[in-house]
Amino acid sequence: MSSYPPTLLRLIKQFAKLPGIGEKTATRLALHILNISSQGAASLAQNILDVKEKIKLCSVCFGLADTELCNICADPGRNNGVLCVVEEADDLMALEKSGVFKGRYHVLHGALSPLNGIGPDDLKIKQLVDRIRKNGIKEVILANNTDVEGEATASYLAKLLSSLPVRVTRIASGIPIGCDIKYTDQVTLKRAMEGRRGI
Ligand SMILES: [Zn+2]
Repeated sequence: MSSYPPTLLRLIKQFAKLPGIGEKTATRLALHILNISSQGAASLAQNILDVKEKIKLCSVCFGLADTELCNICADPGRNNGVLCVVEEADDLMALEKSGVFKGRYHVLHGALSPLNGIGPDDLKIKQLVDRIRKNGIKEVILANNTDVEGEATASYLAKLLSSLPVRVTRIASGIPIGCDIKYTDQVTLKRAMEGRRGI
């Protein structure tokens, strides 16, 4: 790699810092950039700057937006009575992609983690309570991750919201599609049993 000219080497090193990109892929990407037109390269560079400058948090749900409201909050056709709480903006994107949810979202921006010094004030919890109070939300679906911190955050929220006139539900967790029962861990099996439904 060191035999590349320093300018190209700098780009390879930059690419290699990106998540999921190893040295080989970084080199391939840098060589690809070398081969595209100057206009294509300028457009790519401008896109990167635009993302940094223009993408902000939606003022309502704290998802990603390049205007005051994100596409979902600006959509009048969504169900205002149901709010789905997620940890990160990419969780929201994944749920949107599935097309199963037509309500509104609220992005917490993390999970409670006392060991890392992350408490309720570090997440968008106060804003969540305000939204529920002001907007007549009937159901809050807790779609926090199912790891220890996500579960702790969901429990905290369930307790916090129990004093409000809103139904609080937790997304079901169970055995992934195409998975063999004998290779499934005990916690997942227990959850799957508890969350069973009629067919
Ligand atoms: Zn929004």
